[in-house]
Amino acid sequence: MLITNARLITWDQPNQILEDHALLVKNGTIDALGPSAEMVQANPEEETLDAGGQWLMPGNICAHTHFYGAFARGMAIPGRPPRDFPDVLRKLWWPLDKSLNSEDVRYSALVCLVDAIRHGTTTLIDHHASPNAIDGSLDTIADAVDRSGLRAVLCYEVTDRDGEAKSAAGRDENVRFIERCADGPVAGGRVAAAFGLHASLTLSDGTLDACRKVAPAGSAFHIHIAEHEADEYDSLQKSGLRIVDRLLEHGILDERSIVAHAIHVDGREMELLAEAGCWVSHQPRSNMNNGVGVADVDSLLRMGVRVCLGNDGFSNAMWEEWKTAYLLHKVWHRDPRRMPADKLAEMAVVNNAALAEGFFPGAPLGTIRPGARADLILVDYHPTTPVHEGNLPWHIVFGFHESMVTATMVDGRLLMRNRELLTLDEAEITAKARERVPAVWERYKENVPSD
Ligand SMILES: [Zn+2]
Repeated sequence: MLITNARLITWDQPNQILEDHALLVKNGTIDALGPSAEMVQANPEEETLDAGGQWLMPGNICAHTHFYGAFARGMAIPGRPPRDFPDVLRKLWWPLDKSLNSEDVRYSALVCLVDAIRHGTTTLIDHHASPNAIDGSLDTIADAVDRSGLRAVLCYEVTDRDGEAKSAAGRDENVRFIERCADGPVAGGRVAAAFGLHASLTLSDGTLDACRKVAPAGSAFHIHIAEHEADEYDSLQKSGLRIVDRLLEHGILDERSIVAHAIHVDGREMELLAEAGCWVSHQPRSNMNNGVGVADVDSLLRMGVRVCLGNDGFSNAMWEEWKTAYLLHKVWHRDPRRMPADKLAEMAVVNNAALAEGFFPGAPLGTIRPGARADLILVDYHPTTPVHEGNLPWHIVFGFHESMVTATMVDGRLLMRNRELLTLDEAEITAKARERVPAVWERYKENVPSD
C-alpha cells in the first residue's frame, strides 16, 4: 500500500518532518519513503491511501496497562472512600479482579483494544489479574488482541494474596504462555509474553524464588515497585531490605525487567535500577488518581535509567499521559522548567520503542524508516503555528488530541480508516460489555470488604 500526500513525522534519530511525502508499505514493513509525486510515479500499480495532508507518524506505545480494569468505569465503591493506596487495592482492584470470569476477561480486553485503535496506540504492554479465571486467561486476551490486529505483550500478575494454589496457578500461567510464544508466533507474531509479578508486598521470598526458578531463560519480569510507601515498609519488615535490593537478591531485576511506578525508591535503589538496566514505567494519571506521590523521573533519567510512559489502565490515549506528566512535574517541583516536552518524547517515543523492540525483535518499532514495522497512525491536526522538529513535542502537548487520529495500522494492516474500525465490531463489543458489567458489579459487591 502506498500512503500518499502525508506530512511524515519519522520519530527517527534525529527526528524528521517531511512535507508532502509518501510511504510504501510492503509485507508489514515500511519499504520506502519519498516525495509523494515521485513515489506515485514509481509505484503506479500500488493500492493507494490518500492521507489528504494529514500527519503520518508511528503509532503510540504504552509501556504498562491493565486491560482487566475496564469495567471499573462508573462503578461505585460501597461504604467510605478508600483512605490510601493499599485501601484502594483492598476495596477496588482486588474485589473487582476476583469478579471477572473468562468471558469478562475477553470483553474487558476488547473494550480496551477498541479504545487503543481509536486513540492510535498500536503496542500495549499489559499486566493481567483474574484470580477466579487464571488458567488460559492469557490465551483469551491473546485471542482478543489477535482479532483486533494490535500488538501486545501479555503476562499474569503472580500474587500470594489469594493463597498458595492461586499463586502457583499464576506462576504456571506465565510459564505456559511464555513457552507458547516461544513455540511459534502467536497472533501472527504480534503477541509476546513477559512474566508478571504483582508487587513486592504480596510476594513471599518463596514465591519470588519459585518464579525465578521456573521462568524460562530470557524471560522479562514485569512488576509494580514502590507505588506506595507501604510496599517499601513491607519489604523492610519481611527482609530487612528495600524493594529493589530485595528483588535483586531474588534475581528478578535485569535489563529486560519492567518496573512500574518506582515512586518511593530511595537514591541507592535508583542507582541499582540504573546498574541493572531496568525499564521504569511512569504513569502520572494513575499516580495522581491514587494520591501516591510523584516518581522522581528527572533523577532517574539523570542516573541513566530508561524511563518509559504507561497508562496503568487509564484510557489508551497516550498524549493525555504526556500532558499530565508535563503539568504534574512542574507543579510538584514548583518549577516551570521541569519535564519539558522533548523529555517526554525521549520517554514515550524513544524509550517506549526500545522497550517494545525487545519483545518484537527483527525490525525497528516506533519509527518511520525503510525496514521498520508499519505500525502507523494518521492524525488530522491543523496547526495554527509553524511545526518543526524542534517544537513538535510542544505541539503534541498543547495541540494534538487523540480524537484527531483517523487511521490506525499495525504490521501494514489497516485497523481503522476514516475513523471506521475495520477489525473489531465496536457496537457489538460495547453492547456485550454493557450486558456483562451488571453481573460483574454484583459479584464485586459480594467480594468487597465491608469496612
Ligand atoms: Zn499497574
